[in-house]
Amino acid sequence: MKLLIVEDEIQLADALTEILRRNMYLVDTVYNGIDGLDNALTGVYDGIILDIMLPKMNGIDVLRNIRANRISTPVLLLTARSEVEDKIKGLDCGADDYLTKPFITGELLARVRAMTRRKGEIINDNRLEYNGLELNKNTCSIIYNGNDVKLSLKEYQIMELLISNPHMILTKERIIEKIWGYESDVEYNNIEVYISFLRKKIAVISAPAKIKTARGIGYSLE
Ligand code: CA
Repeated sequence: MKLLIVEDEIQLADALTEILRRNMYLVDTVYNGIDGLDNALTGVYDGIILDIMLPKMNGIDVLRNIRANRISTPVLLLTARSEVEDKIKGLDCGADDYLTKPFITGELLARVRAMTRRKGEIINDNRLEYNGLELNKNTCSIIYNGNDVKLSLKEYQIMELLISNPHMILTKERIIEKIWGYESDVEYNNIEVYISFLRKKIAVISAPAKIKTARGIGYSLE
């Protein structure tokens, strides 16, 4: 699950980043509205945490631009107590929720979970399931029929993408974009290695799900 934080208070931004990373989210963090908009327009995020008072472009304008470009990524607005007007404007412009500063970590995490909750295949916030194969966030493992095997962080992140989009071919570009980011020098054969680890682990617990290769394109969970 990949999140974008747009917040100009560097200490707060970095603290949020740290908390979310510890909770298994992939996080990109930027400190002004223009960078926030540039990142948001890539469409690779599962959720955006957007401050309202920002240098270069304020959060409301960032949000307007995101929606004008038909990017439907859920947005959680961060507002100061005094910004009631902005809060209303934000919700009118297509924000999904807002959180008033200061807030406690537990509430932030709950809002982020609510914002990124997917329909259908989710059992609860910490478990994803496809055809009896379960991906458990708390234990960082896959489970089938009572058998479980631990995953590395990257394996977990790739598995999360696959299990959230069953039968959909995920291109190698998309996997790199989501998990390592645009500017990484990860190569396609690194992905192939992680996929082969995942296949072995799925086989170890005798789950019937298979990661199929779409030759020259990417992978899908079937
Ligand atoms: Ca601010």
